[in-house]
Amino acid sequence: MQTLFTAAQLADPETAASHGEIRKCVHCGFCTATCPTYVLLGDERDSPRGRIELIKAMLEDGGPPTKETVTHIDRCLSCLACKTTCPSGVDYAQLIDHGRAHIEATYRRPLSERALRALIPAVLTHPGRLRAALALGRLARPLAPVLEAAKLRPLAALLRLVPKPVAAPQSARARPAEGTARGRVALLQGCVEPAMAPSIREAAMRLIARAGFEVVLVEGERCCGALSEHLGRADEARTFAAANVAAWTRAGPFEAIVTTAAGCGTTLKAYGHRLAGDADAADVASRAKDVLEFIAEVGLPPVTRPGGLSVAYHAPCSLQHGQGIRDAPAALLAQAGFEVRAIAEGHLCCGSAGVYNILQPDLAGRLRERKAANIARTGAAVVAAGNVGCITQIAPAVGAPVIHPVELLDWATGGPKPAGL
Ligand code: SF4
Ligand code: SF4
Repeated sequence: MQTLFTAAQLADPETAASHGEIRKCVHCGFCTATCPTYVLLGDERDSPRGRIELIKAMLEDGGPPTKETVTHIDRCLSCLACKTTCPSGVDYAQLIDHGRAHIEATYRRPLSERALRALIPAVLTHPGRLRAALALGRLARPLAPVLEAAKLRPLAALLRLVPKPVAAPQSARARPAEGTARGRVALLQGCVEPAMAPSIREAAMRLIARAGFEVVLVEGERCCGALSEHLGRADEARTFAAANVAAWTRAGPFEAIVTTAAGCGTTLKAYGHRLAGDADAADVASRAKDVLEFIAEVGLPPVTRPGGLSVAYHAPCSLQHGQGIRDAPAALLAQAGFEVRAIAEGHLCCGSAGVYNILQPDLAGRLRERKAANIARTGAAVVAAGNVGCITQIAPAVGAPVIHPVELLDWATGGPKPAGL
């Protein structure tokens, strides 16, 4: 694709990087077939190819984008199915992140949107505030239809996502290795997962320790920055990244920095780019592992409980498209004795996508229903999904329990039965 950037614009490293990606696009359109928003809406401007055109025009112009451009870029899930499909290797993540940051810096949204977009990171990136908000949300849940009628759809969507209360086990800050010690790993504590599904971290700590690694929860960690990136708040994402790199470098060395939330893993692996020129950030990025990727590499501990349960494996976009981890999770579940069933249209997002289900409730709802129908066709007894966002999004729409794969693997290798079962 030809571009019209000036030499002055290309002196900016971010613009130079986007320019390189835009030029790789040959307009073939292969990506449109796997783009969830194009599949739903059939509008070229809601396809990856159309959005690349919009982002190119917006960045070349340099000024505030039109409302129309913002609408179509806002509808992107950042699911990166297009990146997986593209035969030219266009790094769409670079383009959409740059596009969102440009909108955030130059475009003035209506007051209600600005307020919601400020409230989301202020609450979701602090587990204590999120727990308090969830308690309030449970009380306010009956008001969802009223908010819907008042055209406050994002707030109604938010209330509908509030899960039932869960017991919050207090993790020790470290768990020793079992058997012959093989090393030491840091486990990212995360923001949303400890408040929504704390049992995932407990299961991960047991499983990693059983595999022979000491597990440490490092003091001073912040949010990974994924939510800020989804909102175009690039500076905030960089601040979070720098704080985490400093915390892990201080507490290290670690064989790996492991995360149980696929969305966080994609963000950690991009720290080298986010903090370009910072050797510690590059080191952290090279050690970042999804928990299933890590267990696949170091080996599943011996299976002590025969599985047999049928499991529909839902691949989070951040894992399959963002990190390119496609086979390992299902292979581990099969190794643990579960009967793994594939979900049709597995490449399509469930609609969670960071905070998309709050900001774009209509499209997110349509994607959830489509995913739930495909899951129902598997007839599986359990759904496994390696990202708390996907679990929260899918669970209300399916009859079967939705559980993180690490809880199933922990159970199969000697841990307690997951509470969801
Ligand atoms: S990231 Fe997902 S929603 Fe956005 S353009 Fe690519 S495929 Fe479509
Ligand atoms: S598949 Fe790649 S090269 Fe083809 S239109 Fe999409 S982004 Fe461009």
